[in-house]
Amino acid sequence: MEKKRSGGGKRAVDPGAIRPGEMMRLLDGAYKGRRIELDFKTPLDLLIATILAAQCTDERVNRVTAALFKKHKTSSDYLRVPVEKLEEEIRPTGFYRNKARAIVNCCRALEEDFDGKVPRRMDDLASLPGVGRKTANVILGHAFGTPGVVVDTHVTRVAARLGLTREIDPNRIEQDLMRLVPRDRWTAVSHALVLHGRYVCKARKPACGECVLSELCPRIGV
Ligand code: SF4
Repeated sequence: MEKKRSGGGKRAVDPGAIRPGEMMRLLDGAYKGRRIELDFKTPLDLLIATILAAQCTDERVNRVTAALFKKHKTSSDYLRVPVEKLEEEIRPTGFYRNKARAIVNCCRALEEDFDGKVPRRMDDLASLPGVGRKTANVILGHAFGTPGVVVDTHVTRVAARLGLTREIDPNRIEQDLMRLVPRDRWTAVSHALVLHGRYVCKARKPACGECVLSELCPRIGV
């Protein structure tokens, strides 16, 4: 009888043995109901928070935005404040000069092209300066309830280890995952992959022994 594995280690990969549907179902169940860890009340808050979250922890972003979102509620609020003051307000998130410029550029585009409102369509969102498909899908999924597959560094790594994709381009990974999961679970499952990569299937030391997918995962590249 095959010995039950409890820890990490490489496994021989048999592509035919990979059961993506079951893996996605387990993952979905394990993280059900878990909200995005960035605090926000409005789509604009979430857009600003995603800009600030680059190279920064969500926890630190939340500490900064707790005060920031009370002062600035509209895109014109962000344009009214002198950029040096905005830089100071967001300084703890790092790269604050670039991030302040990104916020100003984005808010200016919102004012000029969308009446100051965060648009609800992927093409419109992705037209905003500094907003790619990843950020657009975060906003669509978590602020507007429109299903979207978010592909960040965690999703890229975990999906590869699970054998869910062989792609390295985020747009192609997004397409692969969209095919594996029903549309109404796109946001939830990709968020589950983000959390799984953040807390269990970490880049350096994946905790395979504590992983809900331990019995199914081919551990590609681990
Ligand atoms: S998904 Fe789980 S079993 Fe697979 S490599 Fe990551 S932590 Fe290990």
